[in-house]
Amino acid sequence: MARFIFITGGVVSSLGKGLASAALGSLLQARGFTVRLRKLDPYLNVDPGTMSPFEHGEVFVTDDGAETDLDLGHYERFTGVAARKTDSVSSGRIYQNVLDKERRGDYLGKTIQVIPHVTNEIKDFISIGEDEVDFMLCEIGGTVGDIEGLPFFEAIRQFSQDKPRGQCIFMHLTLLPWLAASGELKTKPTQHSVKELRSIGLQPDILVCRSEHPIPEKEREKIALFCNVRPEAVIPAYDLKSIYEAPLAYHEQGLDQAVLDAFQISPAPRPDLARWQDVYDRIHNTDGEVNIAIVGKYTQLEDAYKSIKEALTHGGMANRIKVNVEWVDAEIFDHEDAAPHLEGYHAILVPGGFGERGTEGKIKAAQFARERKIPYLGICLGMQMAVIEAARNLAGLETAGSEEFDHEAGKRRFEPVVYHLKEWVQGNHAVQRKVDDDKGGTMRLGAYTAALADGSKVAEVYGDTSIEERHRHRYEVDVKYRKKLEECGLSFSGMSPDGRLPEIVEVKDHPWFIGVQFHPELKSKPFDPHPLFRDFVRAARDVSRLV
Ligand code: GLN
Repeated sequence: MARFIFITGGVVSSLGKGLASAALGSLLQARGFTVRLRKLDPYLNVDPGTMSPFEHGEVFVTDDGAETDLDLGHYERFTGVAARKTDSVSSGRIYQNVLDKERRGDYLGKTIQVIPHVTNEIKDFISIGEDEVDFMLCEIGGTVGDIEGLPFFEAIRQFSQDKPRGQCIFMHLTLLPWLAASGELKTKPTQHSVKELRSIGLQPDILVCRSEHPIPEKEREKIALFCNVRPEAVIPAYDLKSIYEAPLAYHEQGLDQAVLDAFQISPAPRPDLARWQDVYDRIHNTDGEVNIAIVGKYTQLEDAYKSIKEALTHGGMANRIKVNVEWVDAEIFDHEDAAPHLEGYHAILVPGGFGERGTEGKIKAAQFARERKIPYLGICLGMQMAVIEAARNLAGLETAGSEEFDHEAGKRRFEPVVYHLKEWVQGNHAVQRKVDDDKGGTMRLGAYTAALADGSKVAEVYGDTSIEERHRHRYEVDVKYRKKLEECGLSFSGMSPDGRLPEIVEVKDHPWFIGVQFHPELKSKPFDPHPLFRDFVRAARDVSRLV
């Protein structure tokens, strides 16, 4: 049966709980244990699928088609363990389950209450698959003291009581603010945050203290004393050059040892950190740099394209190249020449997105990259825009567009090169959708297989002709335009196994121009960079060496 580590946060939000959890997971793996990481989010949305990337950052999609919090991306990138639907839950989902059961009469007429019905639902969620791994790490979103979080804190308190002693530990992240005027680190907010936690019955075993300044031994002892934690279990967490230094940094500060001590696992298996040392070396020993433009809509909030940014970094690591990413707002050149905004970049990436805003700019970015022979990677919407561009400018279909935009812009005549998909095959069964379906969870979601054409660029990139990648979209390139587009320079080099859905397009007479209907960025890892990103960065490097 798994041991459970519950990770909570206090003082302020955005302390990097997800990163700390992911790094701890990777350190436990380095000691030979198996892990699974979970996120419990107190907000009322059923899942993040319908939340704006401006507000909540990217939606991370799992193989089994769940739309989840971006922290699951960190978990996968650090541990390589593919996240599942059952690794992410919100208050909204918990309440939905409870209310469904109530309607079905499962509670046999009882009054439904937060304790025990909601807390039981949370506990059931936490224990799914508990026999599969050595450690289950469960991160509670938000900050201790938040009203929405209370049922989760109560549930993990009960959970640790239900289990035999020593089976669950609590790790709490806090911040030690620095007062410049007096030149001091302050421990009081941490003390208060732990007091808040203890008032709801939770005593942390480990405290991870974020700080911009070194934490003197004296302060560490003071925190231990006032928070009732062992001094060795007060772990400093300093800012790092790269998030991928976190496993080594946390190891040096004794986090994994403190966790094993808290579980009384002795002797502790020795860690094998070779994987993270290699990652560290690749970050710090680079030869040259490239400038890549991400031409998108959600450019104000970098978290909106979190996995893409990380996958580019991984591509850089694979080539020992520093990748500088610049965010270019596609809307700026919706109605003007794109060249002045795109000149000078070594490669252009157009990411996924929803809605019409900025799409004319993205089409121009694809045209610029195609005509100037600049490496181009189009992801999902970025592929659709590249196809529309080719349809308009190569195949002479001047009114080529997407049904997605027609809905928004009213009825105008156009050539629906990209259309709303209403039925398709997933594995062995058919899936059907209507245009007016609910917005949540109704897209083509999760892992699908694609067959790659022999001799194509992508087959060379992947070193394979059958791949599996994750999807999240409603619209598709219409295969009926394939012949026309292939006659004028595109190649449909990846198709769904039944040949109906274009998965990958390439521009034939171009050093590196690939559009993919799926999201390769979701599967890239620092120690296993995704082949498309590895190759795309290499192509950018080749351009940088020419100029
Ligand atoms: N909006 C497009 C669609 O639904 C693309 C989605 C995406 O880029 N993830 O098909």
